[in-house]
Amino acid sequence: MKAIYSALEKILQTKPLTEEPLSRHTSFRVGGPAEIFVKPQTTKEMVEIWETCRIHDIPLTLLGDGTNVLVSDAGLKGVVVSTNQMNAIALCENHCIRAQAGARLSKVAETACKAGLAGFEFASGIPGTVGGAVYMNAGAYGHDIGEFCKSVTLLTGGAGHVIGTVFGVMTLASVTQIFITAGLTKPWWQQIFVGAMFCFFVLFQSVVLLRRRRRILNA
Ligand SMILES: Cc1cc2nc3c(=O)[nH]c(=O)nc-3n(C[C@H](O)[C@H](O)[C@H](O)COP(=O)(O)OP(=O)(O)OC[C@H]3O[C@@H](n4cnc5c(N)ncnc54)[C@H](O)[C@@H]3O)c2cc1C
Repeated sequence: MKAIYSALEKILQTKPLTEEPLSRHTSFRVGGPAEIFVKPQTTKEMVEIWETCRIHDIPLTLLGDGTNVLVSDAGLKGVVVSTNQMNAIALCENHCIRAQAGARLSKVAETACKAGLAGFEFASGIPGTVGGAVYMNAGAYGHDIGEFCKSVTLLTGGAGHVIGTVFGVMTLASVTQIFITAGLTKPWWQQIFVGAMFCFFVLFQSVVLLRRRRRILNA
């Protein structure tokens, strides 16, 4: 593990941690140590971590905010990556929002409300990151991420390529088919999402959307 630690140290802006208790990084506050724990700040760092683990044949486990995982007291071997520092959110043209995988879902909802992009208020109170939400197809109040997720950017293939996969409506049932159609060899649950694009079809006054958001947060 010394070799991979040194390799990661060179790649990352923040120092990799060793024997880091995962109870510090999960909502349920349980979980033993990660052999190596890292928090990439950029997609480039994420790609390089992934490539390094692949070259050294070390298992890589992904965490967003750790709100939907239970880690054993025995901890995890290999490298555990938390994406929650890769958290940029940007308003784009055609009523879309682009978010990095580690952006908080609630922040995306707030950005949408402020911009008058309607429908995403349901996500205001769901804890966790965009990557975790895409993976889980998080939902509440009769809505889910798939209704708004126009595309995901993911790492796949043998050589660390970043591939954007575009699709209209994402449901767990259709995701596998989409990845097969796109010619990706690994099943979708082994992919690493680095970002997603959310698109909106209804515009509304932001003051009304922010009021709805507050109501959901106070519920
Ligand atoms: C108090 C509370 C309330 C909740 N309410 C709701 C709710 O209303 N609706 C709902 O749907 N869920 C809810 N959840 C569950 C949780 O918030 C969601 O599942 C959330 O989307 C998980 O995001 P996360 O970033 O914490 O993912 P994590 O818990 O860190 O990871 C979950 C899974 O996603 C994978 N993953 C994470 N990031 C990526 C990535 N970038 N690429 C690929 N895979 C990735 C992980 O490997 C793991 O398998 C709640 C949880 C708590 C604790």
